[in-house]
Amino acid sequence: MIDTLNSDPPSSEPQASSDDCFWLRVAIDVPLAGLFDYRCAHAVAPGCRVIVPFGRRKLMGIVVETPDTPSFEAKQVREVDEVLDDLPPFPSDWMRMAAFAAQYYQRPLGEVMLPTLPAGLRKVTAYQGKRSAGGPVRRLDKRASKSSPKPIQAKEAPALNEEQIQAVQAIDAITGYKAVLLHGVTGSGKTEVYLRAAQTVLARGRQVLFMVPEINLTPQLEQSLRSSLAVAAGPDSLAVLHSGLSDGERLRAWLRVQRGEARILLGTRLSIFTPMPDLGLIIVDEEHDASYKQQEGLRYSARDLAVWRAHDRDIPVVLGSATPSLESWAHAQRGNYLKLSLEHRARDVELPVVQLVDTRRLAMQQGFSPQLIEAIQGRLEHGEQSLVFLNRRGYAPVLNCGSCGWVSQCPRCTAYTVLHRAGARRNYLQCHHCGYQARVPASCPDCGDQDLHPMGRGTQRVEEYLAELFPEARIARIDADSTRLKGSAEALFAKVHAGEIDILVGTQMVAKGHDFANLGLVGVLNADGMLFAQDFRAPERLFAQLMQVAGRAGRHVRGGKVIIQTDYPEQPVYQALVKHDYVGFARYGLEEREAIGLPPYAFQALLTAEARELATAIEFLTQARALPEQSPDAYYMASAITLYDPVPLRVLRVANIERAQLLIESAQRPALQAFLAQWSVSLPELAGGHRVRWQLEVDPLEI
Ligand code: ADP
Ligand code: ZN
Ligand code: ZN
Repeated sequence: MIDTLNSDPPSSEPQASSDDCFWLRVAIDVPLAGLFDYRCAHAVAPGCRVIVPFGRRKLMGIVVETPDTPSFEAKQVREVDEVLDDLPPFPSDWMRMAAFAAQYYQRPLGEVMLPTLPAGLRKVTAYQGKRSAGGPVRRLDKRASKSSPKPIQAKEAPALNEEQIQAVQAIDAITGYKAVLLHGVTGSGKTEVYLRAAQTVLARGRQVLFMVPEINLTPQLEQSLRSSLAVAAGPDSLAVLHSGLSDGERLRAWLRVQRGEARILLGTRLSIFTPMPDLGLIIVDEEHDASYKQQEGLRYSARDLAVWRAHDRDIPVVLGSATPSLESWAHAQRGNYLKLSLEHRARDVELPVVQLVDTRRLAMQQGFSPQLIEAIQGRLEHGEQSLVFLNRRGYAPVLNCGSCGWVSQCPRCTAYTVLHRAGARRNYLQCHHCGYQARVPASCPDCGDQDLHPMGRGTQRVEEYLAELFPEARIARIDADSTRLKGSAEALFAKVHAGEIDILVGTQMVAKGHDFANLGLVGVLNADGMLFAQDFRAPERLFAQLMQVAGRAGRHVRGGKVIIQTDYPEQPVYQALVKHDYVGFARYGLEEREAIGLPPYAFQALLTAEARELATAIEFLTQARALPEQSPDAYYMASAITLYDPVPLRVLRVANIERAQLLIESAQRPALQAFLAQWSVSLPELAGGHRVRWQLEVDPLEI
């Protein structure tokens, strides 16, 4: 966020004051704290959208309050340009959630409210342009397709097992607010529990918000939702919201939910901000997933907002996972959340056997141990699928000169460029931080030697090697590169489901949520990379990721197996995986966090600064850190706050911008909140003086 304190002040064209005018306090999407007052000849309800003059621009705003008197001289208050009436006012609970998010995440209200809306609803040009034709809502309604919904085949629901029945009953019995943590091992049938709980709520005439980390990767879920909830809520009762939709599609879905036409909203994190008049239940699947955290603009956690919203609406919220976040687990341990467990797989199969292959003294072939190769061979012979998991796309993470040691580096970032193969002569080097691309040099730029070779391996190289080893096998690779075209991920997954693939190579994209019927073996390459990351959450993330990818094995076929190759088999993360012991891992993890005073036993925020030069960023952070010492009286409870030393980010430079951060911590959340509210007031001016971009993140996931 750049300081704009002094730009574009509301201009002060004098206006005749009259007795019969109404004052509106409006939220606008500008990086300025506070709200802006306007006048209007008639009364306008809070929650209405208005187009207002702002400096020389016209901006979309949302009326937040209707005060009796303006906050500055009435003569200087400008008149709204237009009051939009194509939508009913935003409901008060939506307004409350936005206000909470603004205050909690330390952002101006307008910067919270407006970006959550479908694009058409926040663009002035959509209403006042030449071809606006009454705005996007009216246009959409006019050409609303009369197409009848696709017929759905109602799917036969399985009879629930004892654990599932208990869970569903416990959720059905909740009246009012309650957060439920549904901890179920992979394949335990959590989806079926969500669906039954949702059916009950739909049958009571309420709406359901069903959140998932990523939608386009799991078309399966949309299908089963459609077929099993259609009965309870009608054939056209589902709306889907995610960032991959076109503006029009998104607006249509949003409107159907907001009007109560759609009774179930299936969506990613952004769907938490959809007005839902009859909301009766929120489900957050894979609640531990980092995708629920928005990493730009308003850095909110949709999972945390879901709990807040459920509390505010006095309804239940179900957080489900095989590996809950330690934050949620701690809540359940303390009794704040109701914990429900599914300890067995729903189908008549056991959890897969997890085998650690100690790679320290093994003769490895292209990153594969003999054990893993043999295991893949065995599955091929039995007509079962194998999944090779490697969280690194491209051919090789770096290109290296054998004679002088040159390595391929991004000129704009402190990062290597990754070698990608795209057919003869079309190979290229790419930076995964800024997107920079270059041709592969024919010889070393430093010494001229032609002995350049790829170092390490990514999914492309693994795929290539597997094709050499198993020429008969049908191999597919699923990663961000192979699925760039719209629909290609779905097509690849469909092939896997149809049994047209024998070996699947993939990144974390394949780990999430898929129910592959014929997959017997999962092999994990290079897991150790995450083991020694600086971030204190790294082991938790590694455990969750491996548990999830391991959970793809043997969901329908017996004898599922997971092979994890590692140099550190004795590490607690791996030992816990072998025993499928989330509970033990969580206990150990929480004890450790409590001992050192880390979340969830402490609360954090992160101030990040970006500048042309690191020194500038550090200087800004150093001065920001000193603010409370300079005027201690201005800071209520500052003594309960720890401000750490500013440090450069691990990847220091991205696209020629250097970055540093300052960690803020407190054992008490209210103290942290109070501190941030006061502190952030002084930051824009300080940042302006240093010409740095800055952002403040509350509850950062990565530090
Ligand atoms: P999770 O989300 O807990 O990993 P899923 O909901 O994907 O597990 O369920 C795993 C598999 O078990 C799916 O194929 C699902 O259809 C099946 N399943 C769920 N509940 C039952 C049940 N009660 N009886 C038989 N199969 C079930
Ligand atoms: Zn060289
Ligand atoms: Zn780069």
